[in-house]
Amino acid sequence: MSNIDLADVQLASSETARRINRDIVLELTRANQPLSRADLSRSSGLQKSTVSQIVEQLIQEKWVCEGALALPPRGRPSTLLKLNEDLVAIAVDIHPKQATVATVDLNGRLLSRSIVPLTSDPLASTKLMTECMLRILPALPRKSIEGIGISLPGRVDPKTQRLIFAPNMHWPEFDLKKEIEETMGLPVKMENAATTCMLAELTFNRIPGVRDIVLVTVSEGVGTSVFANGHLITGNRGMAGEFGHASLDPSGHLCSCGRRGCWETFASCGAAIRYYQELSPKSRTVAFHELLQLAEEGDRYAAQALEKQALYIGRGLRLIIAGLAPSVILIAGEITSVWGRFGPIIEKEATEDTLGGEFPRILPSHEGEIARLRGAAALVFQRGGVREEELESNRGSRQPEG
Ligand SMILES: [Zn+2]
Repeated sequence: MSNIDLADVQLASSETARRINRDIVLELTRANQPLSRADLSRSSGLQKSTVSQIVEQLIQEKWVCEGALALPPRGRPSTLLKLNEDLVAIAVDIHPKQATVATVDLNGRLLSRSIVPLTSDPLASTKLMTECMLRILPALPRKSIEGIGISLPGRVDPKTQRLIFAPNMHWPEFDLKKEIEETMGLPVKMENAATTCMLAELTFNRIPGVRDIVLVTVSEGVGTSVFANGHLITGNRGMAGEFGHASLDPSGHLCSCGRRGCWETFASCGAAIRYYQELSPKSRTVAFHELLQLAEEGDRYAAQALEKQALYIGRGLRLIIAGLAPSVILIAGEITSVWGRFGPIIEKEATEDTLGGEFPRILPSHEGEIARLRGAAALVFQRGGVREEELESNRGSRQPEG
């Protein structure tokens, strides 16, 4: 028997069923394109007439378009369907010092990418980002821009869509969404960077059959997105998953959140740079990508600093494994570019003397920084459809036709 929350009852109307079936058809098209209506009917189990109706609607809404004719050895030729690549989202990946502004099509392909430097002034920074967007648009005359998706190093209140916790940004309270919507005349959706990475994995990569994934982003901070029992967990005010700010040592280094010894003060890229300075005080200050480069070139202090960071990433993962028992943990961030060297350290530390049961698979996320951009685009492409978590929980359980 399923557990029904009586405080939030929503009856499955025929409209809901139609929306779910529509999204199943859309997802099957994404995964198997190009394909015919008959293929869709076979793989969804939906009647041909239902599939045809949904496809007509998707063509009208410009999500799907007709392509080549397939000529089977016997029978009538059929028109193949694919996702409409002319549907494009502007994707923005915001970091404390810079933002990447990109255009991404419905298949998750990156069409353009520009870097914009940011300052501690949110209004001036937003102006730089919108100017960049306005420069990009004329280069896409035949594309239909659906909206703007933003990946942020912080938490966004799901109700108000305001940034409520972004300790690394050092921005005062600011309505980023309203400012960009007013300038661009396009809808804006925002999400935490870890969640956008998770959405990119769920939308464009798929880890078949896995319903328990924790994704950890390691950059200026350490962020986490939790997909448990097939649902994205948001928690009260969207604050779930702040493992990066769980304190491992109350007398440790001061964290950007104001507390001491948070996991991120041990495991972030900033922590690795600090370890390097401690080991080699006479060296110049380096950026994280330079640290990776130095380690590759044989600098033993750089290697030791990264080993220590990897050890602490693994140590923090123990908390996640004990609390959530995920089947897969995905690590996103620059450190994945040297996964062969430091991944095993993370894995060994995380899975040493854990509780009973199976160890999770600990893997690098597929595409590093591009994941944030594709995830930000996925936020836009969810428009009008059922949300990803509903889709996930209903996948495989086809809804009654109507
Ligand atoms: Zn903290």
